Formats: sequence, structure tokens, C-alpha cells
Amino acid sequence: MSQAVMAFTEPVDGAFKNISFEAISTAKMIAGKTGGPLVAAVMGAGVASIAPQAAEYGADRILVADQEGLKDGLADACIEAATQLVEKADPAVVVIGATALGKDIAARLSARLNAPLAMDCVAVRVEGDQVVATRPMYGGKVLADVSLNGSPAIVAIRPRAMEAVAAQGAGEVETVAVDLTGTRVTLIEKQMETGKIELTEADVVVTGGRGMGGDDYSVVEGLAKVLDGAVGASRSAVDEGWRPVSDQVGQTGKVVAPNLYVACGVSGAIQHLAGMASSRVVVAINKDPDAPIFAKCDFGIVGDLFEIVPAITAEVEKLKG
Ligand SMILES: Cc1cc2nc3c(=O)[nH]c(=O)nc-3n(C[C@H](O)[C@H](O)[C@H](O)COP(=O)(O)OP(=O)(O)OC[C@H]3O[C@@H](n4cnc5c(N)ncnc54)[C@H](O)[C@@H]3O)c2cc1C
Repeated sequence: MSQAVMAFTEPVDGAFKNISFEAISTAKMIAGKTGGPLVAAVMGAGVASIAPQAAEYGADRILVADQEGLKDGLADACIEAATQLVEKADPAVVVIGATALGKDIAARLSARLNAPLAMDCVAVRVEGDQVVATRPMYGGKVLADVSLNGSPAIVAIRPRAMEAVAAQGAGEVETVAVDLTGTRVTLIEKQMETGKIELTEADVVVTGGRGMGGDDYSVVEGLAKVLDGAVGASRSAVDEGWRPVSDQVGQTGKVVAPNLYVACGVSGAIQHLAGMASSRVVVAINKDPDAPIFAKCDFGIVGDLFEIVPAITAEVEKLKG
């Protein structure tokens, strides 16, 4: 295999999401084994100025589709561009972030190109001339190694599961005019929650479960704030209407892998664990000493979250001065 390895980036509001660099670094590791060049794909509107950053993570070549038709980041338009960029680069492997948009693009790309896809991968390696990806299955109960037979092998990596490693590449930028006439979806209105740290990109996530007892999340928000983190919720809390569905962590919510995950009043159901088990350090606060979450955490505190969480917040504030 000496064909190219391609990484898709995800620019948002004039900057790359971190997953972009994680995807490029993963592609770089694969290219290092296969000997092929590393091609980064940058799609969006007004993205040409940031595209060269892909070289800082090892991209040899950067294909840029910078067009108004891509400004809304709609999967319908992005898939048109992605297909054409893949056809141009003719890669053996495509690496893309398993974000909401990335999953959408990866699945459609796989269908269009009749190419194998491994979704939500937490590790990737090359064995001989095959890409082997590790992905959670059955709600995270098992980790399966899957080999991808076919070309291009599409690997969608879980955000924060792989490291972004700086490495200078040649970074030869090439602008590609993609044909978006196949796009059928038009954005009418977009409602954004502003000022929130994106859950899947957050370094720290503080989650409140049914133990919150209501929609007053001020103690959880307070801890998240001092730790520069994001607030998450269990499905029970979302079902109760205490938090928006965009905050839900778990099998049917978002999958997060922060450095620190603080679960407050969360019992630790398997469906919740499926969304946070890859977190590096898990702290659980629960008044029930037999709560299953205590079997899955690094640090467990038995007690009332309404006493413990503010005490931790106060200590962190003291430490930060
Ligand atoms: C198909 C399917 C998909 C699902 N997907 C998801 C998903 O994506 N995400 C998800 O989270 N769940 C999901 N669930 C639901 C899941 O099974 C659990 O019901 C849910 O995670 C429980 O949420 P919880 O831990 O907040 O609530 P509970 O299980 O009710 O736990 C609340 C905990 O709070 C503790 N507590 C109460 N008061 C306090 C206090 N003052 N201080 C400290 N601790 C306190 C209690 O001891 C208890 O352990 C799914 C279920 C199904 C069937």
C-alpha cells in the first residue's frame, strides 16, 4: 500500500475543531506504516486561511474546498465535496472524526464508494497491508478489533481517543472547485446555544443525573465553570426535561472522552457508561455506596452531591487563587 492516506478536518467558525488534528495525526501514523503521502481535506466557506495549519500535524498535501455552498456545514453538501475530494486523492485509507457531522459523512461516503467503514474507533493500527480498528460494541461492553477489507478503508475516530501530535509536513495547498449541484437540502434557520463548551471536545465534563432532583444545575455548573469544563446529563435528567438533549451523555447521547469526568447523582447504568467509559479519570459522587458507578470510577465519594460538589468547587477556587 503506497497510496495516500487522507484525513478529513472539521472547521467551525474560522477554526479547526481539535478532532481535525487528531484525525490528521492518526492518518500520519497510518501513512508512516504504509509509506503513502498524507492528504488533509478542508471543506467549508472561508476556510482557505486556516487550511495551512494542517501541515503542522504532518499533512503533505492539503485539498481545500472553500465555497459558499459549504458554509452551513450541512452533511448533504459536505458529502458532495467529500466524495469529490476522495476521488481526487484516491486514498487507501480515509480518517474522519466520529462527530455528528463526521459520522454522517463517513456513513454516506461508505455507501457511495462501497467502501468498508469502522465507526467510533478508539484505536487504529496497521497489520501487514490492512487497517485494523478497535471499536466499542454492545454499548461498550466489548471492544472489537475489526479489519477493513476494501478501499478506501474508512475509519471514523472517536473525538479525544487519539492524540494530536505536532509534526511538520510539506503542506502543499491545492484549491479544488467542487460541484455542489447535487445538494438538495437548504438551511432555513439555525438556533445555536452560544458560549457553551462543546461536550465532545471538553477536557472536563461534570454530569448531573437524576440525583440532581430537578432542573437547578447550579452546583454542577459551578464546578464545571471553575474547571473550565462542560455540563453533561444522564438520559433520566434529559427525559425529566431538566437539561437539553444536546447535554445527554451515553449510548443514545454523546460519547465523551475527557481527561476528567465527574458524575454527580448518576447511578452508572450500562447505557450511560457507554458514553463516558473512555474518560481518563472518572470521579463519582453518589449517596448510595452500592451504586454501580463506583465499580467504574477512579475516585468515588459517597455522600450528598449538594454538599460535596460545592465543597470541591470551593477547594478548586482556592487552589486557583
Ligand atoms: C435503549 C436505552 C438507551 C439509553 N441511553 C442512555 C444514554 O444515552 N444515557 C444515559 O444516561 N442513560 C441512557 N439510558 C437510561 C439508563 O438505562 C438509565 O436509566 C439512566 O442512565 C439512569 O440515569 P441516572 O443515573 O441519572 O438515574 P438513576 O439511575 O435514577 O440514578 C440516580 C442516582 O443518583 C443518586 N442520588 C440521588 N440523590 C443524590 C444526592 N443528593 N447526592 C448524590 N447522589 C444522589 C442515587 O443514589 C442514584 O444512584 C438508556 C436506556 C435504554 C433502555
